[in-house]
Amino acid sequence: MKIVMLGAPGAGKGTQAKMIAAKYQIPHISTGDIFRANIKNGTELGKKAKSYMDQGLLVPDELTVDLVIDRLAQDDCKNGYILDGFPRTIPQAEALDAALEKLGEKMDYAIDVDVPDENIVSRMSGRRACTGCGATYHIVYNPSKKGEYCEVCGEKLILRDDDKPETVQKRLNVYHDQTQPLIDYYTKQSILRTVDGTQDMNDVFAEIAKILGA
Ligand code: ADP
Ligand code: ADP
Ligand code: ZN
Repeated sequence: MKIVMLGAPGAGKGTQAKMIAAKYQIPHISTGDIFRANIKNGTELGKKAKSYMDQGLLVPDELTVDLVIDRLAQDDCKNGYILDGFPRTIPQAEALDAALEKLGEKMDYAIDVDVPDENIVSRMSGRRACTGCGATYHIVYNPSKKGEYCEVCGEKLILRDDDKPETVQKRLNVYHDQTQPLIDYYTKQSILRTVDGTQDMNDVFAEIAKILGA
């Protein structure tokens, strides 16, 4: 099963993608996580990506597309995967479709986690990310049982620089300009499914599981 997660920053794509990946035993591929790992490891790609991410802008397609296409060619993607944060532009979606077509494959579902802008800023300012393993929490909706430390690996949790309110507004604008057109793109392919992302995270997951046929 091949799935794309769509939604504004902070809509809950990552949270749901991790639950889907665990239930269906397919890899969760997050371009944001890949970029952050590169930044942490001080790679050339990380240095380039950081300057865009810090400003709330998208990393250019040239730095993003090949990275994902290569990742999808790895062995663990044989039975499908869930893409979280990619594609984020129409050219990225077209490049993905072209790569799939070459393999005689196609995307099965694009799931749009729908959350209005009003809810996004509080979601983001409460998000806490683990500096060790990338797990995410929310100070109100999904707090770590270990307070400021990660339940999984014990490392310190932080508020991502790009989750501060001034950058969040910019990321929302970028989302509306560059990413929201994908809703139309996948509607035309008849694979778009919309879920109400304002519900409790387990209820959102129940809706998605129903779509995917649990
Ligand atoms: P969120 O979880 O809030 O949606 P991500 O972790 O997916 O954020 O992405 C963080 C940042 O990484 C984005 O604001 C953008 O700068 C960059 N990024 C992630 N995925 C992509 C992509 N597919 N294309 C361009 N930039 C990306
Ligand atoms: P995205 O990957 O779309 O940027 P995340 O999955 O990281 O979003 O979720 C953003 C923040 O909101 C996180 O702190 C997460 O714990 C929290 N969150 C996710 N889903 C829900 C939900 N349904 N209700 C309340 N908070 C949520
Ligand atoms: Zn951790």
